[in-house]
Amino acid sequence: MILQTNPKAGYLAHKAEIDAAIHQVLDSGRYILGSQVADFEDEFAQWMGAAHAIGVANGTDALELSLRALDITPGQIVFTVAHTAVATVAAIERCNAIPVLVDVDPATYTMDPGHLADAIRSCQDARPACIIPVHLYGQPADMPEIMTIAMRYGLKVVEDCAQAHGAQLHGRTVGTWGDLGAFSFYPTKNLAALGDGGAVLTDDPQLAGKVRALREYGWNERRESTMPGINSRLDEVQGALLRVKLRYLEEDNARRREIANLYNTRLAETTLKLPDVRTAAVHVFHQFVIRSQYRDELQAYLKENGVNTLVHYPVPIHLQPTYKRRIRLGCSGLVNTEKLCGEILSLPMYPQLRDEEATIVSELIAGWHAR
Ligand SMILES: *Cc1c(COP(=O)(O)O)cnc(C)c1O
Repeated sequence: MILQTNPKAGYLAHKAEIDAAIHQVLDSGRYILGSQVADFEDEFAQWMGAAHAIGVANGTDALELSLRALDITPGQIVFTVAHTAVATVAAIERCNAIPVLVDVDPATYTMDPGHLADAIRSCQDARPACIIPVHLYGQPADMPEIMTIAMRYGLKVVEDCAQAHGAQLHGRTVGTWGDLGAFSFYPTKNLAALGDGGAVLTDDPQLAGKVRALREYGWNERRESTMPGINSRLDEVQGALLRVKLRYLEEDNARRREIANLYNTRLAETTLKLPDVRTAAVHVFHQFVIRSQYRDELQAYLKENGVNTLVHYPVPIHLQPTYKRRIRLGCSGLVNTEKLCGEILSLPMYPQLRDEEATIVSELIAGWHAR
């Protein structure tokens, strides 16, 4: 069986180092917010090219605390996309802000700046406050355009970087374009914990201080709550092993690109739509997503032949039960979003996937396609 993703392979690849890091924490007696998390925060911020990183419990909290640090208040509008993990929208609603979902560009599957601008103009009666672009599948969203629009309308920007650790655009790492960048270290992500984890990235010392307070009851240095916070801490065990994993992130992302190249070469002759890479972008291929009108048949055929694939995401957020009918959409609708959901397929993609395995997957697809 060829797996679609394989967190265990990511552990086994560096087992000795990870085990040693975990045992160091166990022996230290300090399990929450100690030196491992502090060191990880410094190393992660430096790696990303930002001044501050704050470890939190997961990616959803990273988004929520970013919005709360920006003082997004109940009733204010936050623009994002419907073609994303539910977490993006859930975090907005956790702040009692109002998500407005705009369509994605059909080539890159990320927020379409034109539709964003239309949606902002049509919401001027309400209170537009913030934009959350999602760097989906490892592809940077169109940050120069989105930042220009944000500037023009006076909106804040929080980047959802949960699928794009290390992706770049014009030489600048994602997570450093907006006011804050939110990361997840869920076990299948490019930088993966062995449990839950997340981080917020920012250059602004005040925002950093606020996220730091918000993640622990709103405490100041004297442990007095100065604002209503929550408990959203990254723990020492995850911090220690993330320091190990961070040392291999560059290499892992390069390996993902190598696998993507292999797929691209071997599938070039088919009529499948292969992933676009934005000009001047470094894509980190969290997923390798192809498109076919016959997606369900192709997925079933691969399964019969021992290849697991997944669909990210089969149902756009605005059509899921709890959001259906009540969630607000941008004025130009979600035509691209709705169309691509029936056609996308995520092929096996993780750094330890072997060339032979990616070749088998490609040959099965090309063979199926030729029939
Ligand atoms: C994984 C993910 C999240 C949420 O991360 P968690 O750590 O699971 O809370 C948010 N946004 C996107 C795009 C994701 O892929």
